[in-house]
Amino acid sequence: MHQPNEEGFYGRFGGAFIPEMLIPNIEELESKYLNIISSESFQKEYHRLLNDYAGRPSPLFKAERLSSKYGANIWLKREDLNHTGSHKLNNTIGQILLAKEMGRQRIIAETGAGQHGVATATVCALMGLQCVVYMGETDMERQAPNVARMRMLGAEVRPALSGNRTLKDATNEALRDWIANPTDTFYLIGSVVGPHPYPDMVARLQSVISSEIKQQLKEKIGTELPDYVVACVGGGSNAAGSFYHFLDNPSVKLIGTEAAGLGVDSGETAASIACGDLGIIHGSMTYLMQSEDGQITEPYSISAGLDYPGIGPLHAWLKDCGRADYLPVTDDQALDAVMELTRLEGIIPALESAHALAALVMLPLKSSDNVVVTVSGRGDKDMKTYMERFSL
Ligand SMILES: *Cc1c(COP(=O)(O)O)cnc(C)c1O
Repeated sequence: MHQPNEEGFYGRFGGAFIPEMLIPNIEELESKYLNIISSESFQKEYHRLLNDYAGRPSPLFKAERLSSKYGANIWLKREDLNHTGSHKLNNTIGQILLAKEMGRQRIIAETGAGQHGVATATVCALMGLQCVVYMGETDMERQAPNVARMRMLGAEVRPALSGNRTLKDATNEALRDWIANPTDTFYLIGSVVGPHPYPDMVARLQSVISSEIKQQLKEKIGTELPDYVVACVGGGSNAAGSFYHFLDNPSVKLIGTEAAGLGVDSGETAASIACGDLGIIHGSMTYLMQSEDGQITEPYSISAGLDYPGIGPLHAWLKDCGRADYLPVTDDQALDAVMELTRLEGIIPALESAHALAALVMLPLKSSDNVVVTVSGRGDKDMKTYMERFSL
């Protein structure tokens, strides 16, 4: 019921709204991705790399001090322990194997904060494939260490010079590149966004998160079903992966948190569900933040990875049909959650992940509840912000 139809629609969300010149690329991918992903040889190599290269399975950790504080059993899914520091590698490992299987020699990607660019450059180095990453010029200045990482890994980082010179502009440049290089190039998208089949493909590649959670809970508490699964939502890939194998278990409450920035009414926000309405972004129909005349609004969040004006179509659907709830979390609430996890559990989370942790105080928890919170990434990349905000 929560799978897309043949045209890639979840209800009225999704689809593939793309320029005519991209149709052959998308159709080829669409016709091949399910067969390749489900093949035995793909699964074997994908899981070998997830285990031996990325470091999976990621632990499911019972956070005892956090549990006492909130009066419930709080479990942390430690995606922060993956190689390169977040869940993003789960997806790039899968897509690079798909690209190889389809005979592509050249990989392109878009990146905002640079985390997806680094995860893409990493797997390109691993596979010896050419890598071009488009990044808004403004973002390149803001995220200089990630630009340096990509370059060290052998990727070419091309600045996007149009518009506000951020993620949206980088995405446009990547699409333009793909149109110009349809036969040798694979476009490696970093979240459950973009035209069909990307949202479904990325959700499947990230679904390893929820399949591990089920197995780990079964071993630890004798049931695979928690009461809540909580994850932050930028485009929505770590949340999609955390929810995926629970979608048809209605007793499991699914909670996504989106970045409210300075507040949902402040105009300085990235809460696409709370503040957005229906429109087309990045080739798919979904909720996005736009002005009255349909221009996409520049999003704001303290967390660069949640600073996206739209949301993957699966989440727009889960919101509409009531299967998942989405809570806005402000910069300040996220910062409080950073310090809380750090001091109670000795884990410094990424700012994005702190948006998920901040939901704990908002949920009506009972002492018997089992709550899984996905810690999507580690805080190393955010130390500059933490030093400023916590006067360190
Ligand atoms: C990129 C990123 C996110 C947001 O992306 P999703 O596709 O919504 O998961 C969240 N957390 C971390 C650590 C990230 O790097």
